[in-house]
Amino acid sequence: MQLRPWDVVVVGGGCSGLATALDASARGYRTLLVERGDFTGGTSSRSTKLIHGGVRYLRQGQVGMVYGALRERHRLWKNAPHLVNDLRLIVPAYRAWERAWYGTGLKVYDALARGRGLGSSRLLSRRACLSRVSTLRGRKLRGGVLFHDGQFDDARLGWALIRTAISLGCAAINYAEAVGLLESRGRIKGVRVRDLIGGREWEARGAVVVNAAGPFADSVLRMDEPRQDPSVVLSRGAHIVVSSAFLPGDSAVLVPSTDDGRVLFAIPWKGHVVIGTTDVPVDAPSREPVPGEAEVDYLIDHAGRYLTRPITRPDILAAWAGQRGLMAAGTGQNTAALSRGHSVSVSRRGLVTVTGGKWTTCRKVAQDTVEVASDVGGLSPTHTRTATLRLHGYSIRRDVHDPWRVYGNEAEAVRALEEADPALGALMHPSLPYRLTQAAWAARNEMAVRVEDVLARRTRALFLNARAAAAAAPAVARVMARELGHGRGWADGEVRAFRQLARRYVCE
Ligand SMILES: Cc1cc2nc3c(=O)[nH]c(=O)nc-3n(C[C@H](O)[C@H](O)[C@H](O)COP(=O)(O)OP(=O)(O)OC[C@H]3O[C@@H](n4cnc5c(N)ncnc54)[C@H](O)[C@@H]3O)c2cc1C
Repeated sequence: MQLRPWDVVVVGGGCSGLATALDASARGYRTLLVERGDFTGGTSSRSTKLIHGGVRYLRQGQVGMVYGALRERHRLWKNAPHLVNDLRLIVPAYRAWERAWYGTGLKVYDALARGRGLGSSRLLSRRACLSRVSTLRGRKLRGGVLFHDGQFDDARLGWALIRTAISLGCAAINYAEAVGLLESRGRIKGVRVRDLIGGREWEARGAVVVNAAGPFADSVLRMDEPRQDPSVVLSRGAHIVVSSAFLPGDSAVLVPSTDDGRVLFAIPWKGHVVIGTTDVPVDAPSREPVPGEAEVDYLIDHAGRYLTRPITRPDILAAWAGQRGLMAAGTGQNTAALSRGHSVSVSRRGLVTVTGGKWTTCRKVAQDTVEVASDVGGLSPTHTRTATLRLHGYSIRRDVHDPWRVYGNEAEAVRALEEADPALGALMHPSLPYRLTQAAWAARNEMAVRVEDVLARRTRALFLNARAAAAAAPAVARVMARELGHGRGWADGEVRAFRQLARRYVCE
């Protein structure tokens, strides 16, 4: 099979690739995106779920990067109000100087947002801190500082990006791996793609190929230049999820300095609490990274220093890790200190590679990438349209407690499935905030082809409660099999595969 020639072929369906495909499609370029797993199946579904300027980078003097990220935070807040919400974070102060120190830093953060803030920071008394976070350790607490950042559902935002791109003419294929590059007259002019479900191979020719493979960028680069030096430095970040009893209410807690100089977040998310993250250098990328024992201990230990209710391993509902593919800058191995900025490079034969960046800045990363790509591919230059482009589902729904909010203006259509088949109204599992309707909708309308796609990314069941997600798998598989026309054998195989995966998210 050979598809028509494209202007831009994007390899990788994480936030960098998805945003690149969107930017290119919005400029009118004929765009193809191939992703070897499911969209956002890599790092982009494993983030801390913050759309933020990155307060901690101020301490590292990266003022320009924070300024740029705050501007992008505002754009995402405007363009996807159904997926990005305001989050109040509290920085507790246990020493006399801390309140003034953090308060001043956060005023700088407010100032950098320049009227694009989600709300101003302010000092809190000890009592105000404890009334917002009743489980905050009160001993020696002097007060704190409250500030605002954005929070989101990463995999759902990824779906909104690609769905918007598709509406602008993009072709996007999941479970399609780039296994080689095509060359014409000494230039990279396409990719060889393997369909990982159907098993066939085909060629996609294009004026320019963008390598947005994140932590795997070097493996695509080596298809072009086998002796290529590493372009990314890898580090793993882990999270644990516990019940909201450990952090009741809507406010998050930010611990500004942990033992390895990172910040630690405890964040309410979808009726649960996400605690993260770590920063552990790793040598080689993994498709399914798992938090190390020491990382889990570190998170339990640091959370326990600030929260009154101690976390034990049986309290952990899910534990997951993502890998940062950071720009290789020098050889220092303190990955926490490496820049979260991005870079776009072009190989001798014209392969465009984007590395680094973060979810918050993916629109700008994509803009820069497409500008380089259009030049390399000789495409007619145009301006980006994404700064004010409303994303799929756009609707002003900001109530974080509304489980249908992530569907934006499609929420009614999703729920309407239950009218035709009331059985779909059943919860996937009593401990999960999802209904079978959402599995049917995802199979019909959201390119979900595996049970994992529904339980990990179209809904976030696996990330909230791995055991409950495993228990929900048979019901989800039945609904999907019916929607997709598969038999019992398919459903059984999917349940087995998903349960094996879910074990990696359970902390024994
Ligand atoms: C622990 C952690 C927490 C984070 N928290 C935040 C946060 O709160 N806010 C924020 O803004 N940022 C955050 N980030 C950063 C952000 O998540 C990442 O920068 C971003 O997800 C990286 O996206 P990506 O597209 O570059 O990589 P990925 O999401 O990994 O995507 C790369 C994709 O390429 C695909 N691929 C690889 N090889 C091929 C091939 N040959 N053919 C086809 N497809 C291929 C992979 O399957 C993968 O899906 C966090 C990162 C980590 C690790």
